[in-house]
Amino acid sequence: MKNILIKFIQNKFKCTHKNALLTSNEGYCPDCGEYLVKNYYLVRCSSCDIKREAKLYFNQIIPKSRFCSNCGSEDFYIEKIDKINFIDAKYAIYLKEIAYAYKEICPNTQVWVNKENDILKQITASCWS
Ligand SMILES: [Zn+2]
Ligand SMILES: [Zn+2]
Repeated sequence: MKNILIKFIQNKFKCTHKNALLTSNEGYCPDCGEYLVKNYYLVRCSSCDIKREAKLYFNQIIPKSRFCSNCGSEDFYIEKIDKINFIDAKYAIYLKEIAYAYKEICPNTQVWVNKENDILKQITASCWS
């Protein structure tokens, strides 16, 4: 019970970074000052493993439809993807997450981001509304 309460309070005051990363894939949030990166995720069906279309609901990734269109299962799991590709683009969803020491881990970030930007433009043009 205590844990639930703490979680609730944290969520309530947690910055949603809604004004951050509007045109880039990483940078500082103007509201909380944290350094953020976009991380991409896929939602898959737990029973048949098919990719399911996802949406954000209060910053939580959930499938768009309640049941799997392939097998009817309600269970799903979330898979983090390192690099977004065209096949996953239709299903991928991103979260703006705090990047702890991101620069040190990824010295080649800039190259990667440029590539990703191109893909992202096509995604937003085609299927994210
Ligand atoms: Zn923020
Ligand atoms: Zn399924």
